[in-house]
Amino acid sequence: MGWTTEVDVGKGAGSLISLLGEVAENEETTMTGGRAVISALTGRLGTTYRDLLIDRAEDHTVQVASGSALVLAPHPDDETLACGVTIARKAAAGTPVTVVIATDGTASHPRSRLGPTERAAMRRDEARAAVSVLGLDPTDAEQLIFLDHPDGHLADRVDPLAERIDELVTELRPDEIYAPSSIDWNDDHRAMSRVVRRLVAQKGLAAKIYEYPVWFYEPWAWVDHDSTKVARLGQLLTRPVRAMRTLRPRIVKSGEYAIVKEQAVAEYRSQLTNLTGEDDWAVFPPRFLERQLAPEELFFEPIRSSDGTNPVEVDR
Ligand SMILES: [Zn+2]
Repeated sequence: MGWTTEVDVGKGAGSLISLLGEVAENEETTMTGGRAVISALTGRLGTTYRDLLIDRAEDHTVQVASGSALVLAPHPDDETLACGVTIARKAAAGTPVTVVIATDGTASHPRSRLGPTERAAMRRDEARAAVSVLGLDPTDAEQLIFLDHPDGHLADRVDPLAERIDELVTELRPDEIYAPSSIDWNDDHRAMSRVVRRLVAQKGLAAKIYEYPVWFYEPWAWVDHDSTKVARLGQLLTRPVRAMRTLRPRIVKSGEYAIVKEQAVAEYRSQLTNLTGEDDWAVFPPRFLERQLAPEELFFEPIRSSDGTNPVEVDR
Protein backbone atom coordinates (compact mmCIF):
# COMPACT_ATOMS: atom_id res chain seq x y z
CA MET A 1 0.00 0.00 0.00
CA GLY A 2 2.90 2.32 0.67
CA TRP A 3 1.15 4.39 3.30
CA THR A 4 3.57 5.64 5.85
CA THR A 5 1.35 7.73 8.05
CA GLU A 6 1.38 7.08 11.76
CA VAL A 7 -1.40 7.35 14.27
CA ASP A 8 -1.20 7.08 17.99
CA VAL A 9 -4.20 5.02 18.94
CA GLY A 10 -3.54 5.55 22.62
CA LYS A 11 -5.17 3.47 25.31
CA GLY A 12 -8.43 1.69 24.61
CA ALA A 13 -10.58 2.70 21.72
CA GLY A 14 -9.88 6.42 21.72
CA SER A 15 -11.82 8.25 19.08
CA LEU A 16 -11.03 6.94 15.63
CA ILE A 17 -12.92 9.78 14.08
CA SER A 18 -10.60 12.37 15.58
CA LEU A 19 -7.65 10.22 14.61
CA LEU A 20 -8.81 10.38 11.01
CA GLY A 21 -8.11 14.10 11.03
CA GLU A 22 -4.55 13.48 12.17
CA VAL A 23 -4.02 10.83 9.52
CA ALA A 24 -5.42 13.11 6.85
CA GLU A 25 -3.00 15.84 7.88
CA ASN A 26 -0.07 13.43 7.72
CA GLU A 27 -1.30 12.25 4.35
CA GLU A 28 -1.08 15.76 2.95
CA THR A 29 2.52 16.06 3.99
CA THR A 30 3.75 12.61 2.91
CA MET A 31 2.21 12.50 -0.57
CA THR A 32 3.77 14.07 -3.59
CA GLY A 33 1.70 16.43 -5.79
CA GLY A 34 0.57 14.02 -8.54
CA ARG A 35 -0.28 11.24 -6.18
CA ALA A 36 -2.21 13.62 -3.92
CA VAL A 37 -4.29 14.83 -6.89
CA ILE A 38 -5.12 11.29 -8.05
CA SER A 39 -5.92 10.28 -4.50
CA ALA A 40 -8.19 13.28 -4.01
CA LEU A 41 -9.98 12.62 -7.31
CA THR A 42 -10.55 8.88 -6.78
CA GLY A 43 -11.38 9.57 -3.15
CA ARG A 44 -14.16 12.00 -4.07
CA LEU A 45 -15.47 9.78 -6.84
CA GLY A 46 -15.48 6.81 -4.50
CA THR A 47 -17.41 8.71 -1.87
CA THR A 48 -19.94 9.93 -4.44
CA TYR A 49 -20.30 6.41 -5.78
CA ARG A 50 -20.95 5.09 -2.27
CA ASP A 51 -23.53 7.84 -1.67
CA LEU A 52 -25.37 6.83 -4.85
CA LEU A 53 -25.44 3.20 -3.73
CA ILE A 54 -26.72 4.21 -0.28
CA ASP A 55 -29.50 6.26 -1.92
CA ARG A 56 -30.68 3.16 -3.79
CA ALA A 57 -30.28 0.74 -0.88
CA GLU A 58 -32.95 -1.19 0.96
CA ASP A 59 -32.73 -0.75 4.72
CA HIS A 60 -32.18 -4.08 6.53
CA THR A 61 -31.45 -2.60 9.95
CA VAL A 62 -34.53 -4.00 11.66
CA GLN A 63 -34.40 -7.55 10.35
CA VAL A 64 -30.62 -7.99 10.60
CA ALA A 65 -30.65 -8.98 14.28
CA SER A 66 -32.65 -12.14 13.70
CA GLY A 67 -30.71 -14.06 11.03
CA SER A 68 -27.93 -16.44 12.10
CA ALA A 69 -24.79 -15.74 10.14
CA LEU A 70 -21.53 -17.07 8.84
CA VAL A 71 -19.15 -14.15 8.32
CA LEU A 72 -16.29 -14.99 5.98
CA ALA A 73 -13.25 -12.73 6.28
CA PRO A 74 -10.15 -13.14 4.11
CA HIS A 75 -8.01 -11.37 6.73
CA PRO A 76 -8.27 -10.56 10.41
CA ASP A 77 -10.05 -7.14 10.31
CA ASP A 78 -12.39 -7.57 7.30
CA GLU A 79 -15.16 -8.98 9.51
CA THR A 80 -15.04 -5.92 11.76
CA LEU A 81 -14.45 -3.26 9.09
CA ALA A 82 -17.25 -4.51 6.86
CA CYS A 83 -19.70 -6.21 9.23
CA GLY A 84 -18.92 -4.93 12.73
CA VAL A 85 -22.31 -3.32 13.29
CA THR A 86 -24.11 -6.28 11.74
CA ILE A 87 -22.27 -8.75 13.98
CA ALA A 88 -22.84 -6.59 17.07
CA ARG A 89 -26.57 -6.27 16.37
CA LYS A 90 -26.89 -10.02 15.99
CA ALA A 91 -24.76 -10.80 19.04
CA ALA A 92 -26.80 -8.39 21.18
CA ALA A 93 -29.96 -10.23 20.14
CA GLY A 94 -28.44 -13.61 21.01
CA THR A 95 -28.40 -14.65 17.34
CA PRO A 96 -25.63 -17.13 16.45
CA VAL A 97 -22.73 -15.67 14.49
CA THR A 98 -19.64 -17.53 13.33
CA VAL A 99 -16.69 -15.51 12.09
CA VAL A 100 -14.23 -17.39 9.88
CA ILE A 101 -10.87 -15.75 9.20
CA ALA A 102 -9.22 -17.41 6.23
CA THR A 103 -5.62 -16.18 6.33
CA ASP A 104 -3.02 -15.51 8.99
CA GLY A 105 -2.82 -11.80 8.11
CA THR A 106 0.97 -11.75 7.90
CA ALA A 107 1.18 -9.98 4.52
CA SER A 108 0.20 -6.52 5.73
CA HIS A 109 3.79 -5.92 6.86
CA PRO A 110 5.85 -8.50 4.96
CA ARG A 111 9.24 -6.88 5.42
CA SER A 112 8.84 -6.03 9.08
CA ARG A 113 11.51 -7.03 11.54
CA LEU A 114 8.70 -8.71 13.46
CA GLY A 115 8.82 -12.27 12.15
CA PRO A 116 5.84 -14.02 10.52
CA THR A 117 5.07 -16.04 13.64
CA GLU A 118 4.98 -12.93 15.77
CA ARG A 119 2.86 -11.06 13.21
CA ALA A 120 0.40 -13.94 12.92
CA ALA A 121 0.06 -14.13 16.71
CA MET A 122 -0.45 -10.37 16.92
CA ARG A 123 -3.19 -10.34 14.29
CA ARG A 124 -4.90 -13.34 15.88
CA ASP A 125 -4.93 -11.54 19.24
CA GLU A 126 -6.32 -8.41 17.58
CA ALA A 127 -9.11 -10.43 15.95
CA ARG A 128 -9.99 -12.09 19.25
CA ALA A 129 -10.15 -8.72 20.99
CA ALA A 130 -12.19 -7.15 18.17
CA VAL A 131 -14.87 -9.86 17.99
CA SER A 132 -15.07 -9.84 21.75
CA VAL A 133 -15.89 -6.11 21.62
CA LEU A 134 -18.58 -6.96 19.05
CA GLY A 135 -20.16 -9.35 21.54
CA LEU A 136 -18.84 -12.76 20.47
CA ASP A 137 -16.89 -15.23 22.59
CA PRO A 138 -13.51 -15.60 20.88
CA THR A 139 -12.78 -18.81 22.80
CA ASP A 140 -15.88 -20.50 21.40
CA ALA A 141 -14.97 -22.54 18.29
CA GLU A 142 -18.45 -21.91 16.91
CA GLN A 143 -17.99 -18.16 17.11
CA LEU A 144 -14.44 -17.55 15.87
CA ILE A 145 -12.50 -19.84 13.55
CA PHE A 146 -9.01 -19.25 12.12
CA LEU A 147 -8.14 -21.20 8.99
CA ASP A 148 -4.53 -19.93 8.87
CA HIS A 149 -3.97 -19.99 5.13
CA PRO A 150 -0.95 -17.92 4.14
CA ASP A 151 -1.93 -14.30 3.61
CA GLY A 152 -1.83 -13.32 -0.06
CA HIS A 153 -2.15 -16.89 -1.34
CA LEU A 154 -5.85 -17.64 -1.04
CA ALA A 155 -6.15 -18.00 -4.81
CA ASP A 156 -3.95 -21.11 -4.50
CA ARG A 157 -6.13 -22.49 -1.69
CA VAL A 158 -9.50 -22.30 -3.34
CA ASP A 159 -10.27 -26.03 -3.08
CA PRO A 160 -9.51 -26.57 0.64
CA LEU A 161 -11.21 -23.25 1.42
CA ALA A 162 -14.35 -24.24 -0.50
CA GLU A 163 -14.39 -27.62 1.21
CA ARG A 164 -14.15 -26.07 4.69
CA ILE A 165 -16.80 -23.44 4.00
CA ASP A 166 -19.08 -26.13 2.61
CA GLU A 167 -18.59 -28.20 5.80
CA LEU A 168 -19.33 -25.18 7.99
CA VAL A 169 -22.47 -24.32 6.05
CA THR A 170 -23.70 -27.93 6.38
CA GLU A 171 -22.91 -27.98 10.09
CA LEU A 172 -24.14 -24.51 11.09
CA ARG A 173 -26.97 -23.96 8.59
CA PRO A 174 -26.66 -20.16 8.72
CA ASP A 175 -29.55 -18.00 7.51
CA GLU A 176 -27.04 -15.57 6.00
CA ILE A 177 -23.50 -15.70 4.65
CA TYR A 178 -21.38 -12.55 4.50
CA ALA A 179 -18.50 -12.61 2.02
CA PRO A 180 -16.33 -10.06 0.24
CA SER A 181 -17.53 -8.47 -2.96
CA SER A 182 -15.69 -9.66 -6.06
CA ILE A 183 -15.18 -5.98 -6.84
CA ASP A 184 -12.06 -5.53 -4.74
CA TRP A 185 -8.41 -4.98 -5.58
CA ASN A 186 -7.15 -7.54 -3.10
CA ASP A 187 -6.57 -10.99 -4.61
CA ASP A 188 -7.49 -12.83 -1.39
CA HIS A 189 -10.82 -10.99 -1.31
CA ARG A 190 -11.46 -11.91 -4.95
CA ALA A 191 -10.54 -15.54 -4.29
CA MET A 192 -12.92 -15.80 -1.33
CA SER A 193 -15.69 -14.19 -3.32
CA ARG A 194 -15.14 -16.74 -6.12
CA VAL A 195 -15.29 -19.62 -3.64
CA VAL A 196 -18.65 -18.47 -2.28
CA ARG A 197 -20.10 -17.73 -5.71
CA ARG A 198 -19.09 -21.18 -6.96
CA LEU A 199 -20.57 -22.87 -3.89
CA VAL A 200 -23.80 -21.00 -4.53
CA ALA A 201 -23.79 -21.97 -8.21
CA GLN A 202 -22.84 -25.62 -7.59
CA LYS A 203 -24.67 -26.41 -4.36
CA GLY A 204 -27.49 -23.88 -4.37
CA LEU A 205 -26.85 -22.74 -0.79
CA ALA A 206 -30.04 -22.00 1.11
CA ALA A 207 -28.49 -19.08 2.98
CA LYS A 208 -28.91 -15.54 1.75
CA ILE A 209 -25.62 -14.20 0.51
CA TYR A 210 -24.56 -10.66 1.32
CA GLU A 211 -21.40 -9.37 -0.29
CA TYR A 212 -19.54 -6.59 1.44
CA PRO A 213 -17.29 -3.91 -0.10
CA VAL A 214 -13.82 -3.41 1.34
CA TRP A 215 -11.20 -2.29 -1.23
CA PHE A 216 -14.08 -1.50 -3.54
CA TYR A 217 -13.59 2.20 -4.18
CA GLU A 218 -10.10 1.86 -5.64
CA PRO A 219 -9.80 1.94 -9.46
CA TRP A 220 -7.78 -1.27 -9.33
CA ALA A 221 -10.80 -3.07 -7.83
CA TRP A 222 -12.71 -2.77 -11.09
CA VAL A 223 -10.29 -4.26 -13.55
CA ASP A 224 -8.94 -7.70 -14.37
CA HIS A 225 -5.39 -7.49 -13.16
CA ASP A 226 -4.03 -9.71 -15.94
CA SER A 227 -5.65 -7.83 -18.85
CA THR A 228 -4.01 -5.27 -21.13
CA LYS A 229 -3.90 -1.58 -20.29
CA VAL A 230 -6.47 -0.80 -22.99
CA ALA A 231 -8.82 -3.52 -21.75
CA ARG A 232 -8.42 -2.29 -18.19
CA LEU A 233 -9.32 1.24 -19.23
CA GLY A 234 -12.48 -0.10 -20.90
CA GLN A 235 -13.37 -2.08 -17.78
CA LEU A 236 -12.80 0.97 -15.62
CA LEU A 237 -15.14 3.06 -17.76
CA THR A 238 -17.94 0.50 -18.12
CA ARG A 239 -18.06 -1.68 -15.02
CA PRO A 240 -18.92 0.99 -12.42
CA VAL A 241 -21.83 2.11 -14.60
CA ARG A 242 -23.05 -1.44 -15.09
CA ALA A 243 -22.61 -2.19 -11.40
CA MET A 244 -24.68 0.84 -10.42
CA ARG A 245 -27.53 -0.67 -12.44
CA THR A 246 -27.12 -4.29 -11.35
CA LEU A 247 -25.87 -4.31 -7.75
CA ARG A 248 -28.66 -4.61 -5.21
CA PRO A 249 -27.45 -2.55 -2.23
CA ARG A 250 -28.65 -3.15 1.31
CA ILE A 251 -27.73 -1.13 4.38
CA VAL A 252 -27.56 -1.78 8.08
CA LYS A 253 -27.51 1.44 10.07
CA SER A 254 -24.87 1.77 12.75
CA GLY A 255 -26.98 3.73 15.25
CA GLU A 256 -25.89 3.07 18.81
CA TYR A 257 -23.53 0.34 17.56
CA ALA A 258 -21.26 2.85 15.80
CA ILE A 259 -19.21 3.25 18.96
CA VAL A 260 -19.00 -0.53 19.44
CA LYS A 261 -17.64 -0.93 15.91
CA GLU A 262 -15.23 1.95 16.41
CA GLN A 263 -13.90 0.27 19.55
CA ALA A 264 -13.60 -3.08 17.78
CA VAL A 265 -11.72 -1.52 14.84
CA ALA A 266 -9.40 0.18 17.34
CA GLU A 267 -8.28 -3.29 18.49
CA TYR A 268 -6.51 -3.67 15.14
CA ARG A 269 -3.59 -1.55 16.29
CA SER A 270 -1.20 -3.08 13.76
CA GLN A 271 -3.34 -1.66 10.96
CA LEU A 272 -3.78 1.76 12.54
CA THR A 273 -0.43 2.68 13.93
CA ASN A 274 3.22 2.13 13.17
CA LEU A 275 4.11 -0.34 15.88
CA THR A 276 7.80 -0.65 15.08
CA GLY A 277 8.69 2.72 13.56
CA GLU A 278 9.77 0.99 10.33
CA ASP A 279 9.49 3.26 7.28
CA ASP A 280 7.34 0.91 5.22
CA TRP A 281 4.87 -0.06 7.95
CA ALA A 282 1.50 0.32 6.21
CA VAL A 283 -1.63 1.58 7.93
CA PHE A 284 -5.17 2.00 6.63
CA PRO A 285 -5.59 5.04 4.39
CA PRO A 286 -7.79 7.65 6.09
CA ARG A 287 -10.53 7.69 3.45
CA PHE A 288 -10.74 3.92 3.59
CA LEU A 289 -11.32 4.03 7.35
CA GLU A 290 -13.79 6.85 6.98
CA ARG A 291 -15.94 4.75 4.62
CA GLN A 292 -15.70 1.62 6.76
CA LEU A 293 -16.82 3.68 9.76
CA ALA A 294 -19.66 5.41 7.89
CA PRO A 295 -23.08 5.61 9.61
CA GLU A 296 -24.23 2.50 7.77
CA GLU A 297 -22.78 -0.80 6.57
CA LEU A 298 -23.30 -1.57 2.92
CA PHE A 299 -23.93 -5.00 1.42
CA PHE A 300 -24.89 -6.33 -1.98
CA GLU A 301 -27.32 -9.10 -2.61
CA PRO A 302 -25.68 -10.74 -5.56
CA ILE A 303 -27.56 -11.52 -8.71
CA ARG A 304 -26.99 -15.21 -9.10
CA SER A 305 -25.28 -16.34 -12.24
CA SER A 306 -25.28 -19.96 -13.36
CA ASP A 307 -21.51 -20.34 -13.44
CA GLY A 308 -20.61 -18.51 -10.25
CA THR A 309 -18.98 -15.53 -11.96
CA ASN A 310 -19.87 -11.98 -11.13
CA PRO A 311 -22.55 -10.76 -13.55
CA VAL A 312 -21.13 -7.26 -13.25
CA GLU A 313 -18.03 -8.55 -14.99
CA VAL A 314 -19.74 -10.23 -17.92
CA ASP A 315 -16.93 -9.38 -20.31
CA ARG A 316 -14.46 -11.25 -18.12
ZN1 LIG B 1 -8.72 -8.08 3.78
